[in-house]
Amino acid sequence: MGPGPSEIHPAVYRALASPVIGHLDPAYLEVVDRMAELLRPLFGTKNRLTNATPGTGTSGMEACVANLVGPGDAVLCCIHGYFGDRIRQMCERQEAEVTCIEEEWGKPTDPDKVEAALKQKRFKVITVVHAETSTGVQQPMDDIARLARQHGAMILLDTVTSLGGVEVKVDEWGIDAAYSCSQKCIGCPPGLSPVTFSERALEALKSRTTPVRSWYLDIQLLDGYWGAHGYHHTSSSTLNYGLFEALLLAHEEGIEQRFARHLKNHHAFEAGIEAMGMAMHVAAEHRLPLLNTVRIPEGVDDAALRQYLLKSFNLEIGGGLGALKGLVWRVGLMGHSSSPEKILLLLSALSVALAAQGVKTDLAEGQSAAMKVLQ
Ligand code: PLP
Repeated sequence: MGPGPSEIHPAVYRALASPVIGHLDPAYLEVVDRMAELLRPLFGTKNRLTNATPGTGTSGMEACVANLVGPGDAVLCCIHGYFGDRIRQMCERQEAEVTCIEEEWGKPTDPDKVEAALKQKRFKVITVVHAETSTGVQQPMDDIARLARQHGAMILLDTVTSLGGVEVKVDEWGIDAAYSCSQKCIGCPPGLSPVTFSERALEALKSRTTPVRSWYLDIQLLDGYWGAHGYHHTSSSTLNYGLFEALLLAHEEGIEQRFARHLKNHHAFEAGIEAMGMAMHVAAEHRLPLLNTVRIPEGVDDAALRQYLLKSFNLEIGGGLGALKGLVWRVGLMGHSSSPEKILLLLSALSVALAAQGVKTDLAEGQSAAMKVLQ
């Protein structure tokens, strides 16, 4: 129940044990094609160029940045946490001209600041993190998407934590490049990064005057494999079978139902936490259902508490990252880990672990508040 990887469904484990076959085997290429079909509805897109890059979420980030951003390009980086800053670092390595909008950790980027920046300068790309795993904030996208359209800027979107857990609307928002990961709401082991690129992004790529600086993640070369089925790299059938199975499970559950399950479980968890006398870090309207930041009560030894949960209850939750280190716990309610049983267990385990440090919570109220939502 940390920030990922989440728990893996037994059917995904079974798929991971399938025999390894060649990356150009027709049966495997069928899986590669179907992967795109299954990913598109999750991304909310009809983009032809949709599939999964080899590597963790950071490989998708690198693919999106390396393909959209080149030397001298003006890029506006919206940073409201750790991962927004990682995108900035990547843009700087591409020798882009980077302007940053920085927000306090625990708040989303303010669209008024985006508008002010766009009035000052023409930007080729705006980078945004939809679900900031370091803070537990879900970035509202409508206003930023409208502003990008008005000013002719492309949007590069991080959906590492949101894909498969909340709605992502790549086409409606006019996103040009988005990436995710396999190990959070999708429910696979880490190692693959779903990506999608718009036709406009492909057009922009064709008119680049400098080559994409990453050969491995050059999306036009990758398209030679995903689209034209020619050799590009030795794609891992093991990982892709796992992802394929996880995507089938997501569709079997129903995408809308899956989003509703994640939201309901989040509401149960926050109700339980607040009724126990603890506080969530993010304002209710910006909370990310998939990653819940809980303020650590004063005087509590953070590391000792998380060790206690792990040793006594086999439960993993995340500590704070960057500016929130020592201040919050990060509780993932993602994919297969987002279940009523796990929430009720964690509320009880937290109460016991806090009591072991002399901090009293009202567990009965917490369980009752969570149960009311779950009913
Ligand atoms: N972006 C966000 C929002 C993340 O939460 C993470 C990882 O947790 C990443 C990017 C990087 O993904 P990975 O660690 O899979 O490379």
